[in-house]
Amino acid sequence: MISLDSPIRVIPFINDSYEKKLQKIGILTIKDLLLSFPRKYSNNTNLKKINELNIENDGSEIIILKGKANSFKNVYIRGGRTMQSCKLNDGTGEITCLWFNQPFLKNVFNNNKEFLFSGKLKEKGKKLNFLPNLYEEVKLFKDNIHLNRITPEYNLTKGISPKWFRNRVRWIIDNLDEIDIPDELKEQNYLKKTIKEDLYEIHFPSSRDNFFSAINELGIYELVNLRLKILKKRESREKFKSIKISNLAKDINEFIEKLPFTLTNDQLKTFEGISEKILKNESLECLIQGDVGSGKTIVAILLSILIVKNGYQVIFLAPTTILAKQHYETFSKILEDFNFKIALISSDTNEKEPKDILIGTTAILKRKSKVILNPGLIVIDEQHKFGVAQREELVLNYRNGFPHVINMSATPIPRSFLQVFFGDLDVFLIKEKPKNRIPIKTYVVPEEKRVNSINWINNEIEKGGQVFWICPLIEESELLNIKSAKKTFENLKVIFKNRKVGLLHGKMKEKEKIDITSKFKMKEIDILVSTTVIEVGIDVPNANIMVIEDADRFGLSQLHQIRGRVGRGDRESFTLLFSSKNISETGKQRLEFLSKNNDGFEIAEFDLNTRGPGEIYGIMQSGIPNLKVADLSNLELVRESEKIAKQLYLKGINSISIFFK
Ligand code: ADP
Ligand code: MG
Repeated sequence: MISLDSPIRVIPFINDSYEKKLQKIGILTIKDLLLSFPRKYSNNTNLKKINELNIENDGSEIIILKGKANSFKNVYIRGGRTMQSCKLNDGTGEITCLWFNQPFLKNVFNNNKEFLFSGKLKEKGKKLNFLPNLYEEVKLFKDNIHLNRITPEYNLTKGISPKWFRNRVRWIIDNLDEIDIPDELKEQNYLKKTIKEDLYEIHFPSSRDNFFSAINELGIYELVNLRLKILKKRESREKFKSIKISNLAKDINEFIEKLPFTLTNDQLKTFEGISEKILKNESLECLIQGDVGSGKTIVAILLSILIVKNGYQVIFLAPTTILAKQHYETFSKILEDFNFKIALISSDTNEKEPKDILIGTTAILKRKSKVILNPGLIVIDEQHKFGVAQREELVLNYRNGFPHVINMSATPIPRSFLQVFFGDLDVFLIKEKPKNRIPIKTYVVPEEKRVNSINWINNEIEKGGQVFWICPLIEESELLNIKSAKKTFENLKVIFKNRKVGLLHGKMKEKEKIDITSKFKMKEIDILVSTTVIEVGIDVPNANIMVIEDADRFGLSQLHQIRGRVGRGDRESFTLLFSSKNISETGKQRLEFLSKNNDGFEIAEFDLNTRGPGEIYGIMQSGIPNLKVADLSNLELVRESEKIAKQLYLKGINSISIFFK
């Protein structure tokens, strides 16, 4: 009996050496091997009849023949080599098959069994011979898995042949019991096959349609399982009691009146929506989605007043020290009149006392027991930058009840993703930009216009503007012809002789980063060359030009986020997209799309539709579990899984199969 968790050693023909090789490619158990899906499929369906073969077929294409192999011969030829031959008869005719130096084939082809061969024809005199490169015995009652079919090809390592690997997959499928799922799930009309049948179809497709329905079906199993987990978590959370908060509408309205700007309708709606829930003492976990620069922070600030005045702490988690410090300054300044105790917590501050508002990096987690006493609200800025575990550690296990949680994100997560990963989490959208914003103009700049751009940028700096200059890499790489921040920094110092140029990248010490950023803020630097460390949240309202080198190397959503660093003040703002020399036609079109579109949500949808979910996966990396098959851009799939999961959950089912853990 084998199970999904059995070690691969239980499979016949796996010895120490094979075991090591498989381990090297991450395959330790039966399940790992089953989940090593084909990298691609090759078409081995070019079956011919022997009497139809003619000289023209010589050597040009790989063909498949099927017949009985007999009259095996092994002869010695020049240079100590050997040649093997046999006669293949398919009922329409006979052809001689030839191999070199494979005398062991004697044991394979001498008993009137039927075989499939693939190989090329070779003309010899007036006769045709066949030179097979692969063969497979035809078995009664069993599909062939190598030839005369769409054949799976795998990402393997040296010393493991595709044929060997396919045979191991087949053995597992033949010997593994059906993978158990609850009866309630079996009753679903939507699901036609078992998990095992779907797996078999993915490894050994019987047709294009069957293959895709297997992928979809396995995707459903996977998503249903994931959704059940989320539903369960949510329920266990709702059992917690939430903190008690009383209304402070008057104070807050007064505060809003005094702000240096008018809140947008979306900001107000979001604030009101959230405080309404909080006041009902419902335990709240929500997501505020708003494009870069849409003004999410002020909403958190308003809510902080409500929480702190009710005697609870606010914890504000930011992904980088620079951002934490920036938020700390913003909070301190805007909330000046309230005399709240606000602390910055990062690896280079040593705050050890609980304060009203704690703003910091994950350093907060390390000092959790000292600085967090009675949390009422936890705000997670740029939530996708944190892992699931980190977020949960910050949110759970407090004595005074369950703090409210606000996740904030500038990455517009398409609806299908939201549903899967956040379930019925409340989502508040801030779509409207603050009124004073002048839309950013974006240009795709061809290489020959670089010199012109430089003159133009110089002019803009003369007028008082400041420039971000973004490169994909920190250091020059010899392999890739990609712009690095360090090299660009050196170049720009020469090109812009009379300007102050600064450098910022992720490998610098926190203190240096903060130092450079504040110099840029104080206008002591005109051009800040940087890697994407500035991608998240840096707020320098005077900066009005964003130059991006090798722009085609970034995803559109990421470019949009980077671009959002400018256009924050009253100055007209520009983004210049330089692209690499060998940019593809679609690459160009993508950049053109970005230059004409300023809506983060539409850009994310465009990326999702043209390039699949890869990029959003990339951006959300740490925040989402790893899906093996499910394609989240398939909305029907997502909806169907959602429906099934809810039905099962109502029947008390929490998980569908150990296959998906
Ligand atoms: P994000 O949503 O990207 O986190 P921020 O909260 O950092 O954006 O806000 C960006 C800038 O816009 C800040 O300087 C902030 O003070 C300003 N801001 C926020 N709301 C408004 C508004 N309604 N009108 C004008 N400026 C605003
Ligand atoms: Mg922000």
